[in-house]
Amino acid sequence: MRNSCFIAAASLAVLGTVTVAQGPGMRGATRVEPGQPCPPGTTEVRPGACQAPDAPAPSILDYRPESTLVTPQHQVPRAKFPAIDVHGHPGDLSSADAIARMVAEMDKLNLRIMLVAENVSGDRLTRTLQALAASPHKDRFRVMAGVDFRNVGPGWGARAASQLEADVKAGAVGVGEISKSFGLNTKKPDGSRLKVDDPELDPLWEAFARLDVPVFIHTAEPQEFFQPLDYTNERWLELSLFPSRRNNQPGQVTFEQLMTERNNVFRKHPKTRFIAAHFGWHANDLARAAKMLDDFPNVTVEVGAILYDLGRQPRGAHDFFVKYQDRIMFGKDSFQPDEYPYYWRVFETNDEYFDYYRDYHAFWKLYGMGLPDGVLKKLYYQNALRVVKGLPQTGWP
Ligand SMILES: [Zn+2]
Repeated sequence: MRNSCFIAAASLAVLGTVTVAQGPGMRGATRVEPGQPCPPGTTEVRPGACQAPDAPAPSILDYRPESTLVTPQHQVPRAKFPAIDVHGHPGDLSSADAIARMVAEMDKLNLRIMLVAENVSGDRLTRTLQALAASPHKDRFRVMAGVDFRNVGPGWGARAASQLEADVKAGAVGVGEISKSFGLNTKKPDGSRLKVDDPELDPLWEAFARLDVPVFIHTAEPQEFFQPLDYTNERWLELSLFPSRRNNQPGQVTFEQLMTERNNVFRKHPKTRFIAAHFGWHANDLARAAKMLDDFPNVTVEVGAILYDLGRQPRGAHDFFVKYQDRIMFGKDSFQPDEYPYYWRVFETNDEYFDYYRDYHAFWKLYGMGLPDGVLKKLYYQNALRVVKGLPQTGWP
């Protein structure tokens, strides 16, 4: 579909279309049939009439229109209620200094607890746990363990489960973030792609249920990353900036295949608590997100790096967050302190048409969802306290 539109536009330009003059002010316009797109370099100025601008058109990098809209603005530097970030990437926390620096930043945002989701196991995990245990800030963090999905073969599941058990005993409160590589490109020893629902992994998924810890899993990437890099792709800029995010090469696994494999795991292990990172990549399709949550009561989602999809559909997102208020947790992903307030503003205010922090994610504006306090509390901390055991339970509003 996307390709055919693109080809249709290109062929119109090549095959030649009728150039018509249409009254004063309209230089030569190109006619297109109803329903046909305008040729590249032109825009529709009257029904069926396409025209090129007189001045050279800027690239999408250089077009930076300044909005003249005057509307109430509410900056929200601190979350209204103390928050738990279930998708934390604080970097190294193995020294007292690093921990103190993080806590100072977290205090400014009203971020009470960060779940460290650096996917580390064994000695590296223990070092972080020890540094935190020795710190006056130990209750500001909890650490998730990691899983190494290389060399999956016979017996792997049982070994991974016993490593998990040791990590939990050492103090890990779950596992994560299981990275997108798992499913996308991690290979088995025979060179084949390790499928998310490979049965060798079953003993590991079952161990999570037995140990009563959640698994925080990132599967696939935004849908657009699996589509051709053409001018209809709404993530064109990002894909163009970061070639490694292009997942549409021949032979690569598709988005739908990954969703199927992930859902097979959710279905096969109903007693295991899964936290789907990035809203399961369904924030651009809330009906699909709803179906996932309806089908799999053992699944919750977090909101890391999908704010641009919530903020462009504030009414639908509001209703979704109200309906699924027990199933959504706050998570941020990359730790950039000045980006958190955009989340608070979308969740808490009714502001309209304001900037997002990263143009290459979203060239559109955001709107506030105006969530009620009861929903905000669940989103910010109550759901995390329930899903992740071993968090400080007292001192919450
Ligand atoms: Zn992450």
